[in-house]
This record gives sequence, structure tokens and C-alpha cells, in this order.
Amino acid sequence: MLGAKYDFSRDRERRAGIDDMVFMSKNTDSDISHNLKIRFDVNYIYTYIGPVLIAVNPYKNVDYCRENHMEKYRGATQMDNAPHIFAIAEDMFSNMLIDSEKQCVIISGESGAGKTVSAKFIMSYIAEVSGGGPNVQRIKDVILQSNPLLEAFGNAKTIRNDNSSRFGKYVEINFSRGGEPDGGLISNFLLEKSRVVSQAENERNFHIFYQLLSNAEFCQQYSLSLKLRFQYINHVGAIKVPKIDDAKEMHDTQHAMDIIGLPKEVQHNIFSLLAGILHLGNVNFGDKNNYATVLSEQDLRAPCAYFGIEVDYLKTKLISKRLEFKEHQENKQVEQTFTVHKAIFTRDALAKSIYSRIFDHLIQAINSAFQTTKKNFEQFCINYVNEKLQQIFIELTLKKEQEEYKRENIQWTPISFFNNIVVCDLFEAKQPPGMFLLLDDICASSHATTEKVDQSYLHKLSSLSNQHLIVSPPTFTVKHYAGAVTYHSDQFCEKNRDILNIDLIEMMQSSTIPFVKRLFPEQTSTIKARPTTVGKKISSQANELVTKLMSCQPHYVRCIKPNENQAPGEWNSSNAIEQVKYLGLVANIEVRKAGFVYRREFAKFLSRYAILTKQTWPKWDGKVTDGVMHIVDSMHLDRREVQLGNTKVFIKSPESLHVLEDMRLR
Ligand code: ATP
Ligand code: MG
Repeated sequence: MLGAKYDFSRDRERRAGIDDMVFMSKNTDSDISHNLKIRFDVNYIYTYIGPVLIAVNPYKNVDYCRENHMEKYRGATQMDNAPHIFAIAEDMFSNMLIDSEKQCVIISGESGAGKTVSAKFIMSYIAEVSGGGPNVQRIKDVILQSNPLLEAFGNAKTIRNDNSSRFGKYVEINFSRGGEPDGGLISNFLLEKSRVVSQAENERNFHIFYQLLSNAEFCQQYSLSLKLRFQYINHVGAIKVPKIDDAKEMHDTQHAMDIIGLPKEVQHNIFSLLAGILHLGNVNFGDKNNYATVLSEQDLRAPCAYFGIEVDYLKTKLISKRLEFKEHQENKQVEQTFTVHKAIFTRDALAKSIYSRIFDHLIQAINSAFQTTKKNFEQFCINYVNEKLQQIFIELTLKKEQEEYKRENIQWTPISFFNNIVVCDLFEAKQPPGMFLLLDDICASSHATTEKVDQSYLHKLSSLSNQHLIVSPPTFTVKHYAGAVTYHSDQFCEKNRDILNIDLIEMMQSSTIPFVKRLFPEQTSTIKARPTTVGKKISSQANELVTKLMSCQPHYVRCIKPNENQAPGEWNSSNAIEQVKYLGLVANIEVRKAGFVYRREFAKFLSRYAILTKQTWPKWDGKVTDGVMHIVDSMHLDRREVQLGNTKVFIKSPESLHVLEDMRLR
């Protein structure tokens, strides 16, 4: 089918609506939403805006997303078929091979919109079409199996999505010159670890806990049973999810662990730590004159056994902490006993820390397997990363596009759009300090109680006088590109510091289990001197990501969720319009429409289409721009369709390009 144009008349079902919204006569938010709906109604979920793919979640399997449909996209261009995620994947893959350029794809959309599924389609396509020797097969297995593994530990049922990713993921796949995957790297952005110790109503903890509990053998081995009513597992009606078969997924998880190359012993270490976490959650505290005591020592046995630590050690450290101070020039120490509230906080901090270290260990394990034989603070951080991703989208699709026309001296009318760089600055600016820096300042300077600290943070924020920030204690509101979000300043400082108290780290380092020791490798003396904060870490991670993405040829998939009920076939217009709005699709279409679908350096254009005329084939002797125009005129392209910039030729509509491509293949 190479080169054959996609023919709508042959495929009545997919004839509905407009497949590239650049060609719509009207393009308000509701026109866009309406076009997506018409297509959705005939089961077609994909639509383009130029090279950007819009994907609507069908909440059911659609046949044209199956593997046996991949063949159609191999070697084809975007114009040859109806819009599809495989076409994007093919475009990435072939650009990489032909132009030796790095490619990236940014997939965005709200929770449940289909980002994870889209990413998996792209990875499967790449795995399918790329070459393969035995070592390549191994890398492909890692690419594909990293999904079930990270989903088991990083996804959970929420009210919005039964399989919601509770961490941000950036996957890099490296290819050899011949187009074979030969390595990769996964980065994790901030796991929502508070979920380990509590969940909202009708939500679940991470899948892996239920997977363990669904397996009789594991239950026996790790003294688990649902009857034990683990406090870390929600009891408000969300233990079983109808669409999830935990027992089957446990098998998949173990299989993935095998493929990633986690030795059985480490798998056992991980499962027993998870059991330990569940048991730890059942340790409760009593109050004795405002001091916490462990209610039942019996409850300490199981967690200690699974963590490999002494019962007395855990008992002491859950309810007290060593304080060091100077008296008469001498260093002294006392053991400070916690209140019940603080003891619970400490227990939960330990559980969260162990879990997130296991998660990081899995990411590391995947990364080493990739190597060739050689609404709280968390929400605040996640929204910041999303803001940065939106910024890249703006940079690359709206700003860069317009700048290129300017640079190339192409005639056109500029389009206005909201540039969210102001919001990014509000988070990360150095001078005047943005919200992250202000938070770090407060964390570093203040030893006051948590409440006071949070109050002074709000106070500092109100001095920022930024039109995207409204402070009204105890909350503050940030006007994100996707809408305003109100954050409660509660525990911002505590969470930004995010250090496990040093006593607990030392306690875990005393474990008799080598794997547990390895999870806590830090030098406690250096932590005391210079703690890094979560804010610092996330903003440097986000900026690294931006630098990486900016060096790639970008591709975009914008996911849209048709309804809030995870229901197939249901279209909620006002929700859809809302998403169309904040994804900025209108400006996207306008820039595209006013612009040119195709641009190439003169020489590249000439070499691709030289074959079309006798004068240019095999070689054109004159000026390169004359050669370009010779081809344009010989093919009878409308002159209004073509503009020569300073270094590149620009072609306005896809039809003109079709003419050239068709002639070339004749
Ligand atoms: P979150 O931000 O919560 O992680 P997400 O955008 O990653 O959400 P997904 O987990 O990809 O959302 O999608 C949610 C569910 O929607 C999937 O588990 C699947 O049931 C369904 N779904 C999404 N895309 C498709 C698709 N193309 N075909 C069939 N079902 C889909
Ligand atoms: Mg997801």
C-alpha cells in the first residue's frame, strides 16, 4: 500500500467527521468537540490536527488497535491511512532511521484519558516493526514487560480510573543505526507514596498489595489474610474491582519480574517487605500522659521479622527519637518521646519510605536490564511537571512555528495564544524567587511547629504579587493553564523536606537482611548537613526532561476522556469541550491553518523530488532555489501554495504535497 492515499469512500464507517481538523471551516472549542463526537459515534477515536494526534478513550477494545493492524502502517506516511496512533509511531520510527534524529512523543490528557494505553500502543508498534536478533528480543521484552511491573507497583484504582498511574514516567528507548532497540532508560517522577498508608473512599492502595493477598500461597508464606483487616488497605468498599483479576495479575507481575531479571530471592525480599508494610500498618498506639506507647507488642513481631530488625528497636523508634544538644561544651543526647499523633506519622513515614525505595529499586532494575551486554504537595509538584510539558508543547507547536516563519521571512498573520511560561516561572524562578525556592527558604530557616511554618509560607507567597497566584490562608490558588487549582498549605514544608528521621534510617540499616540494608544506603551524617528538598529535586528533574525533549523531534498525542463513568459509547459534551479548551486545540488548529504543512531545506526537497523532471534528474546544475521552483512549476502546483524562505521551501496544504508524493511513486 506504499504511497496509496487513504480513501475515505472505501471505508464508510470512518467517513464521519473530519479526520484532520485543520480543514474544518469553523473551529471553536465546541466545533472541535462536535467533530470528535461524530467520529466517536462511529467508533473512530483518532483525529489529527496536522501532525498532532487527538485520541478519544473508547473504553472498549476497538479492532483497528490490534496488533494485526500494524502491518498497514509500515513504511506508510501519515497521509496514507486514517489517523492512528500506529501512524505516529511509524513516523517516529522512520524519521529516526531516515534522518537519524532523536524522536520523542509527549502524551497528555487528564486521569483516565488513555495516556498509558497510548504509550503501550506506541511501544508495541516499535517492538513489532524494529529489527531483531536474540539480544534485541531481550531489550524488547524489557520494554514491554516494564509496563505490567511498574503498573503493579505504581498504579491503583482511583474513582476516576481503575488503573490510574500514580507516578509520572519518562521512557527512553535507544536504537542502533540499523533501527534495532539496544537499550533504554526509565525515569520516575514522584510516586504518590501517601497512597501506601491511606486512600480516599472507593479508591485502593497500589495494585500489588491486592495481588499478594489474592494468592493463597503468598498469604500463607507472609502471614497475610484479608480477614486481618489491614489498616493500610481501605475498607470502604474498594477491595475488589470488577474489571481487575488480581490473581491473574500477580502471575503477570511475577512473570515481568522474571523477564526483568529480578532473582527469585529479591522477589521474595520484596514481597516480604510488602507484607511487613501491611503488618506495620496494624501497629497502634495508646496515649499515656500525652506520650505514645505501642498498644500491643505482639503486633511488632511480624513487621520486625519481615524487615529483619529487632522488636525493641522498632518499638523505641516508633515512639521516640534521639535528640542531640550541647550542654557546657559537651554533646549530649536524650530520647524524646512522641505524642500519639507523631508516632502514627513516624510509622507511616517508615512504611512510605520502604515502599518508595522498593519502587525506585524496580526502576533501577529495569534500567539495568535495559543495558546491553554492556492536591496537596504531591499534586502541586505533578501539576508543575504538567505545566512544563505544556510549555514544551507551546514552544514547539505554537511559538517555534511562528518564529520559523519570521526567521524565514514567510508572509503570514501571527496568532495569539496563552503562553504559560509565566506559570512555570511562578514555580521555579530564581529571581525573584518562585514558589519552590520560597518553600526551601522556609524549610531551611525555620524550626517552628509545622503550622507556623505553613503560615509563614503563605505569608511569603502573598508577597509575590503574581496575577496567577491568589493567596487566601490557609489556601492558595494557582491559575494553571488547565484551570485554577486551590492548594492547602497544610504540611507543605514537612513534605518538601521529606526526610525520614535519621533514627529510622539507622534502624533499617541494622537489618539482618542484606536487601533491606541496600535500600537504605545513605550516609546519615551528610543528610544532617545538607538535605535536598522534594521541590529542588522535582524542578531539576523537570528541567532535565525539558532539555532532553527539546533536543528531539517532537510528536504529540492529546488524549480526551469522553465521560466520567469509564463507560463505552458515552459522550459528555461539556466535559469534552472543557478538555479541548485546556489542551489549547483551537490555537493549535489556527497556527496550523495559517501555516504550512510541509517545510524542508531546499537541498533536501530537491533531492527528494529531483526524479520528477528531466532537468533535475540526476542532477540540477543551477541555483538550488531555481531547481525547487522548476519542480513546483513542472508539477503545476499553485504558486500561492508555495513560499521560499531563507533556507527552506514551505508548502501550504497537504493536497499539494500529495501531488508531489504521488508523482514520485509513479
Ligand atoms: P492516569 O492519568 O490516571 O494514569 P491514563 O491517561 O493513563 O490515566 P489509561 O490508564 O491509559 O489512562 O486509560 C484508562 C482506561 O481506559 C484503560 O485502563 C482502558 O480500560 C481504557 N482505554 C484507554 N484507552 C483505550 C483504548 N485506546 N482502547 C481501549 N481502551 C482504552
Ligand atoms: Mg496512566
